[in-house]
Amino acid sequence: MIDKNFIQSIDDWHHKSPDETLSLLKTSTEGLSQKSAEQRALEFGSNELPKPVRPHILMRFLSHFHNILIYVLLSAAVITALLEHFVDTAVIVSVVIINALIGFLQEGKAEKAMDAIRNMLALKAKIIREGKHQSISAESLVPGDIVLLEAGDKVPADLRLLSIHGLKIQEAVLTGESITVEKHIEATEAESSLGDRFSMAFSGTTVASGEGIGVVVATATQTQIGRISGLLSSVETLNTPLVIQMARFAKLLTLFILTVAAMILLFSYYVLHQDFTTIFMAVVGLSVAAIPEGLPAVLSITLAVGVQAMAKRNAIVRRLPAIETLGSVSVICSDKTGTLTRNEMNVVSIVTGKDQFEITGTGYEPSGEIKVDKTTVNVAAYPLLEEIGLAATLCNNSRLLHDNEHWSVEGDPMEGALLALSGKTGINIIKTREEWLRTDVIPFDTKYKYMATLNHDHDNNAFIFVKGAPEVLFDLCTLQRCSNHENEPIDKFYWKEQADSIAAQGQRLLAFALKPVMPGHTVLEHDDITDSLIFLGLVGLIDPPRAEVIEAIAECHRAGIEVKMITGDHALTAVAIGKQLGLHHSEKVLTGIELEKIDDKALPDAIMQTGIFARTSPEDKLRLVMAMQSSGMTVAMTGDGVNDAPALKRAGVGIAMGRTGTEAAKEAAEIVLTDDNFASIVAAVREGRTVYNNLKKVISWTLPTNAGEAMTIITAILFGLSLPITPIQILWVNMITAVTLGIALAFEPIEEHTMQRPPHPRNESLLSGGLVWHIILVASLFLVGIFGIYEYALWKGYTENLARTIAMNTLVCMEIFHLLFIRNMHNIIWGWKSIRATTTVWISISMVVFGQFALTYLPWLQSIFETEAVGLFDMLVILGISVLMFLIIELEKQIRIRWTK
Ligand code: ADP
Ligand code: MG
Repeated sequence: MIDKNFIQSIDDWHHKSPDETLSLLKTSTEGLSQKSAEQRALEFGSNELPKPVRPHILMRFLSHFHNILIYVLLSAAVITALLEHFVDTAVIVSVVIINALIGFLQEGKAEKAMDAIRNMLALKAKIIREGKHQSISAESLVPGDIVLLEAGDKVPADLRLLSIHGLKIQEAVLTGESITVEKHIEATEAESSLGDRFSMAFSGTTVASGEGIGVVVATATQTQIGRISGLLSSVETLNTPLVIQMARFAKLLTLFILTVAAMILLFSYYVLHQDFTTIFMAVVGLSVAAIPEGLPAVLSITLAVGVQAMAKRNAIVRRLPAIETLGSVSVICSDKTGTLTRNEMNVVSIVTGKDQFEITGTGYEPSGEIKVDKTTVNVAAYPLLEEIGLAATLCNNSRLLHDNEHWSVEGDPMEGALLALSGKTGINIIKTREEWLRTDVIPFDTKYKYMATLNHDHDNNAFIFVKGAPEVLFDLCTLQRCSNHENEPIDKFYWKEQADSIAAQGQRLLAFALKPVMPGHTVLEHDDITDSLIFLGLVGLIDPPRAEVIEAIAECHRAGIEVKMITGDHALTAVAIGKQLGLHHSEKVLTGIELEKIDDKALPDAIMQTGIFARTSPEDKLRLVMAMQSSGMTVAMTGDGVNDAPALKRAGVGIAMGRTGTEAAKEAAEIVLTDDNFASIVAAVREGRTVYNNLKKVISWTLPTNAGEAMTIITAILFGLSLPITPIQILWVNMITAVTLGIALAFEPIEEHTMQRPPHPRNESLLSGGLVWHIILVASLFLVGIFGIYEYALWKGYTENLARTIAMNTLVCMEIFHLLFIRNMHNIIWGWKSIRATTTVWISISMVVFGQFALTYLPWLQSIFETEAVGLFDMLVILGISVLMFLIIELEKQIRIRWTK
């Protein structure tokens, strides 16, 4: 047991030695036992900061009344009550409440969906417990846990560092200092400030480079960051540029309409001397009709539906505006390994100074045959094979796992494949690793493109083993192994030729080298490997392309989206894979070195004609993004390492790998892929386009409806005609019927042609000429239809109430047909398909139709809404008028689209 209060009272862990820290925390470098970890979890609680508090449920419900229109309606309710029109008062109040309820419930659903998605990105921590490496969720860390850190990780709790290798940490969240801090493990001054506590790693900061191991000394609110802020994240609202633009537009429109309404009220009352009650209600009706008050809510729901659809397709949206940007992506730059390919590696060839070997075997099973010229060889006759096997075993961070005949790898798949190779060269991996202790390591970094380890055996031998990209190792080596541990000068020409021929077959290349050092040598630096390395040989690995990616790339091409491969791999390997994938311009490659020679002006053109960028560094990525953006493209860029963060941030849509990506990359990205698969990016683009289309559909459906209703009322008032629809009826139609129908558009599925059109331009204006024209056309048709049928009914000698009932039903029926039209607003194909809608649409329509029948035929509703039963023939006329309107706008669309083509 450890004393919680005592542990939490210690404030100077940085001043204690590593050993003292471990003993105070009653733990060791082997980690806690599972049992004591569980006990501590109960005592110290979960390692999470308090979530930002949501307003109380009642406040959230009431917030739906915080809206100018609702205030207007509520004052209308008061005035009607004062005028003793109690039925109207009751109707207004109920409509307002029902409307708020719909909004509240839908918003609740949307927020729940967003929460669930956010939880999918929970932070993981690599720890040691009971001497075993494990990966657990950061929330279950307790004081005393041993945590492993590497470049790109987010520190999951406050740690006292126990061992480090070149560990540098970015502590800006905590100290505001953007320069990375180099850490060490010696105790620091008791009074040092946070930024000077070099022996600590603080929760929430990011590892910029290097590695380290630390012991957890504080979790949750006890951490330094927990003490400062209490909260890390704030509640994100469902907003994107389009939605914000619309909300602002709706607000302006509301103010404008209320001003017009007030002027009409004053004019009619003081100048025309009309009856106040009548004119007041008409003006209220006008406001309700004209203000698209349900619009922002429906737009948010559309976004939430889109975010959910993307999560189902393995793309998690971290920042909402990315949804819109995704829809306009015009070029996707993708990593090769693991994203375009399967990342299931297998060593198939080895080249030494004299021989070319072929390797057989499947998966990660460490047994198989090694052949020269198709005949199996005796490995013992080739000492160089064993040396390569030794380097592959030691300069390697992965482990092979074996269960039920199945071999799998823990760690980098490529390193797993190398272990399988070692097995085939006759090496016992576990025994060898015990024999040759690793005293130091330089981890793989895409910047240097190699990894090196320093190993000592028990007989005072010490070697540096290096593996990395061949071109890099060629430059570091002066000698090459011939056989029997003898060396000769390196023949770079031979090696380059061999490398090219393996790469041309699409194999990923890796070179091995070693260097004997003095036994006293225990620290490894980059400087140790800048010269006199001995080249051992090359290995070639296959990593087959993902089958689904071939179709995904073809889909991008149809959708006017370019795909570029960006890889650290060899140019010829990349070309071979690019060809298999059907990439455009895959015969044209630029390497990182060639890129540097092209100046900024010529770069955009060069990029357009190039399909593959090989041997690139993270800086090249950033430069590529900026060049493409400067020629007006919207760029989606993938990345996984710490160094990719700037390019991910800069790209229109930064996409991080969920499985192999670092925390730093995920934080910089807008989207995280849970399966690291390129096909998921394309799925996300498809969803992005669908969401954008649906947002536009919601807007294109709502605004003309409102405009039509408003024009009808204004015309009636201005011409001194009786209103074809009463204000109370308008209230019903607009706040219940319209919201019910509009929400259906949020669930519209992808359209057939969505991925066959070029991307829409970024910053496309919403109130485009096309939309304004559509508003005018549909609003006029509404006006003619409603007035037409109203006058027809009066002409037939119907009562005013019956004529109004007919007019209101016509309005709703036209809205329904307009909805059916909007679903296919881009589509000129006629037929069953253009009417067959989603279940959601039919449910909405059924609900609305049911409501209209109730309003028309139920006696108690008749008395409230002043309606009368409509005859069958007139019902058919209503339907006929709506169909006629549908045909007119459909015809107009056909002509317009064919014309512009
Ligand atoms: P990719 O774009 O294919 O992911 P990387 O930047 O990861 O390329 O790797 C570039 C090159 O660095 C590889 O072709 C390989 O030669 C070498 N390499 C990759 N991973 C490792 C590693 N763990 N250790 C040593 N070298 C590596
Ligand atoms: Mg890689």
